[in-house]
Amino acid sequence: MPDPSPDLVVVGASFAGAACAIAAAQRGLHVCVLERKRDPGDKLHTTGIIVKEAAEYTLLNQLPSTLVRRIEQVRLYAPSLEQVALAASGY
Ligand SMILES: Cc1cc2nc3c(=O)[nH]c(=O)nc-3n(C[C@H](O)[C@H](O)[C@H](O)COP(=O)(O)OP(=O)(O)OC[C@H]3O[C@@H](n4cnc5c(N)ncnc54)[C@H](O)[C@@H]3O)c2cc1C
Repeated sequence: MPDPSPDLVVVGASFAGAACAIAAAQRGLHVCVLERKRDPGDKLHTTGIIVKEAAEYTLLNQLPSTLVRRIEQVRLYAPSLEQVALAASGY
């Protein structure tokens, strides 16, 4: 049953909302998360690439090492198959 008087209401249970709700709950707030989709995991828009800061400074740094690997460069393809390689030193 939902908390009748949450300290914080978060609208949206995707990346930002979930991170916000988890951080607030870990600090002792009673949090209510509202998500309009039937399943919060439905149609999450990600290729699975996590930026360095998110991988290192959020709960994602607790992922088992067998599930993640460092990627030094990505190559993006347009439907025409034109492509561009993206890389940044130390990133
Ligand atoms: C095809 C694609 C691939 C991507 N790949 C990557 C990737 O590999 N790596 C990466 O870092 N980023 C990727 N992105 C970007 C990433 O999806 C966004 O940066 C990220 O989803 C933004 O998260 P967010 O929580 O701010 O917003 P959103 O993910 O847009 O979440 C908003 C949530 O709020 C809910 N909501 C909205 N309004 C209401 C309402 N009134 N009531 C209740 N719920 C509501 C929505 O249903 C949704 O679940 C990709 C994006 C696309 C489109």
